[in-house]
Amino acid sequence: SWEALSPTRFLDRSAAVFAGRTAVVDGNVELTYAQLRQRVDALTGVLAARGIGPGDRVAALCANSSVMIELHHAVPLRSAVLVALNTRLAADELAYILAHSGASLLVATREFAAVADSLGARLGVAVIHEDDLSYTADPARLETDDERSLLAINYTSGTTGRPKGVMYHHRGAYLQSLAMAFHTGLGPRSTYLWTLPMFHCNGWCFPWAVTAAGATHLALRKPDPAAIWSALSRATHFSAAPTVLTMIAEHASAAPLARPVAATTGGAPPSPALLARARRLNIDVTHLYGLTETFGPVVINVWQPEWDALDEDARARRVARQGVPNVIASPVRVVDASGQDLPADGRTIGELVVRGNDVMLGYYRDEEATERASYDGWFRTGDLAVMHPDGYVEIRDRLKDVIISGGENIASVEVERVLDEHPAVVESAVVGAPHEKWGEVPVAFVTTRSPVTEDELRRFARERLAGFKVPKRIVFSDLPRTSTGKIRKNVLRVTAQEDS
Ligand code: ATP
Repeated sequence: SWEALSPTRFLDRSAAVFAGRTAVVDGNVELTYAQLRQRVDALTGVLAARGIGPGDRVAALCANSSVMIELHHAVPLRSAVLVALNTRLAADELAYILAHSGASLLVATREFAAVADSLGARLGVAVIHEDDLSYTADPARLETDDERSLLAINYTSGTTGRPKGVMYHHRGAYLQSLAMAFHTGLGPRSTYLWTLPMFHCNGWCFPWAVTAAGATHLALRKPDPAAIWSALSRATHFSAAPTVLTMIAEHASAAPLARPVAATTGGAPPSPALLARARRLNIDVTHLYGLTETFGPVVINVWQPEWDALDEDARARRVARQGVPNVIASPVRVVDASGQDLPADGRTIGELVVRGNDVMLGYYRDEEATERASYDGWFRTGDLAVMHPDGYVEIRDRLKDVIISGGENIASVEVERVLDEHPAVVESAVVGAPHEKWGEVPVAFVTTRSPVTEDELRRFARERLAGFKVPKRIVFSDLPRTSTGKIRKNVLRVTAQEDS
């Protein structure tokens, strides 16, 4: 008979094979794989004593910490469901997710103890504080034998509206964890620096992938750019959204890292300029594209040996393309509005649709949204893409971010890429603002590193873009971000509308 695939399996194996290796470093806490397993087992006992069993939702309000890694293993070992909360949300937003998920227990690290207590009191949810855990309980494992059962509910970042509860299954997380270890080259000599918030990484499966590889989790409770840059000398791997990578590069010392570090970036398109900059710092970037709904990366920019011969610019442009299906993914398709495949000519734009092991079970308690996102058994990503003849998919823009001006479609990403090439620009975001004559016009928000005028930037853009794509206005301002560092274009769109 087949055994159910579950990411809970990895820890037992690593505890046997790599017993004495460092599994986790979290400030002064340092655990070997044998100790991590012992803690996780004790946690299953703690959860059992609180009445947590199959299907119960356990919420976590945790910094990047050992306890958060432990929960990723212990909660599924009770066949319960992990709801990792975004620690940067406001109390009302957290209350919404707690109530929506129906969590009956909330575990908090010390940074969030007070918030957790008030949420618990408000919603009648029991709270456990990290500092009260003693790790002496007897193990009480209760593993599932159904690999399609619910493992976690991961709420989307809410870039486009109310967060939706994405339902993960054991099988998908198991396979995606292996795929991540495979594609990033994680192994027992690796140290993964936790720059990405762990609550988001359900999606990228790194809490399990690092464990599967027998690598070390290096937890950073406050991952600000300066702390990241200094910790990178102790790491072999990390992940960061393009905006975070930009911030790290801004904080970097003049000298590149002494040893190459492998990074993954995704969540938004990295510009070729940023990728070239990272390379100069000895950061070797693998570009991923994916969604919360797909457990993270669907397509990965797999490096081709022939690219070694390319010059820096051509190389960066190759890496900026989103990639080929990850090793566990089914083929992906680019289709027109009626679901017909479009030619792989690198030009014809359609919607990217995916299916297979790495697609969610659906949105929790939202059948309508689940229905809307599926098409004939395929999951609609909501992203516009072209397929190249060599099989590489290139994301052009989000359907929701495309600006329609005078009947012409403008990919916001294309305009951003041009602005990002200007030496004074750190980062840009382009959105549509309502316009009487054209319907919409592009408006750019930029952060700069040296003085530059709006006229100069518009002139720079006009030399490189068709007239209708040149931003009608350029606003110099900070860019609002989500917890993972993604730019919140929905907020900018409101600002652009109010100002127009
Ligand atoms: P919400 O669904 O709540 O609005 P969100 O869509 O931002 O939040 P995520 O699942 O984190 O939530 O984001 C997935 C989206 O991010 C993709 O659909 C795509 O538009 C964008 N994206 C991710 N990776 C890349 C990439 N490498 N290049 C371009 N776009 C990307």
